Amino acid sequence: MKRRQFIKAAGLGMAASAIAAPAIAQSMPEIKWRMTTSWPKSLDTLYGAAEMTARFINEATDGRFQIQVFAGGEIVPGLQVVDAVQNGTVECGHTASYYYFGKDPTFAFGTSVAFGPNARLNQGWWTLGGGKEVLNEFYKKYNCTAFLAGNTGCQMGGWFRKEINSLDDLKGLKMRIGGFPGRVLQKLGAVPQQIAAGDIYPALEKGTIDAAEWVGPYDDEKLGFFKVAPNYYYPGWWEGGSMLHLFVNNDKLNALPKNYQAILEQAGHYANTWCMAKYDQQNPAALKRLLANGVRLRGFSPAIMEACFKSAKDLHAEIAASNASFKKVYDSMTGYTTDGYAWFQVAELGYDSFMIRHARG
Ligand code: CA
Repeated sequence: MKRRQFIKAAGLGMAASAIAAPAIAQSMPEIKWRMTTSWPKSLDTLYGAAEMTARFINEATDGRFQIQVFAGGEIVPGLQVVDAVQNGTVECGHTASYYYFGKDPTFAFGTSVAFGPNARLNQGWWTLGGGKEVLNEFYKKYNCTAFLAGNTGCQMGGWFRKEINSLDDLKGLKMRIGGFPGRVLQKLGAVPQQIAAGDIYPALEKGTIDAAEWVGPYDDEKLGFFKVAPNYYYPGWWEGGSMLHLFVNNDKLNALPKNYQAILEQAGHYANTWCMAKYDQQNPAALKRLLANGVRLRGFSPAIMEACFKSAKDLHAEIAASNASFKKVYDSMTGYTTDGYAWFQVAELGYDSFMIRHARG
């Protein structure tokens, strides 16, 4: 009797494992997506972060979830990534959300606003400080969810044909500046231009624009700006630590098995770490090469920095007064950043100041 029961139980066990196999296969379906990006392939930092996200997903699913990555302009222009994701032209896209501030300035916070958080604080705000929640609630209107997938660190202030010595020098200045922060310069009389990476150099060379900012030494060197505009200003006060995101169409995201959704989020986190490391690894040597090529490194004067700070605060307050989404995200980010800097001024700043003094020799 006992033996018969045992055989019966074993038989049931075998049957159970036999029907479990298709269930496992179901959780690992073969899926092929397309990812459009805002980047030319030559930028192995930004385009590299997009590729790294896709590669992580491919390897973590043993090749069953594949995402083909496209440069800006291959499927849609580089500044129309969110549109393409929203309308389902592609399943996902890697971009800087502030390019879409024309739809709603709330998009700016996903990348950076003027005098916003540095890279560490942006990452902390997004991951644990409520940033992810408030922005993804806003992105629902566009049928998208954003996953953190890159950071540039603090950017440079860009390349200027002529020196900027006073606020008067900003008046009428035609400058390529990424996204929403151009509005801050506009209040001070400059004429901001939104131009995708691949089109900036010809505009600067022809003199269609007087100045251009992109990211920092490594990317900027590749784009060749130093050949036509020798004054290289710092800091890029409009991008203290710009985030990049993978935008995913919500219908496509919700159709994924939960394990693929988890892998996708972790792929973005890996790309975020990788991207910041790539910039930190490449920028020091690139800056040395640029200086050896005759580039003139210049800091924005304290008077210009203070005027820009005031312009930014005024602009943000004006928009917050009439845009509830903007106000909600702005309050979340500002509270986090204020607390963060109160702490950073103690250990981080003390340590960095000491180390930088000694690194100079
Ligand atoms: Ca920039």
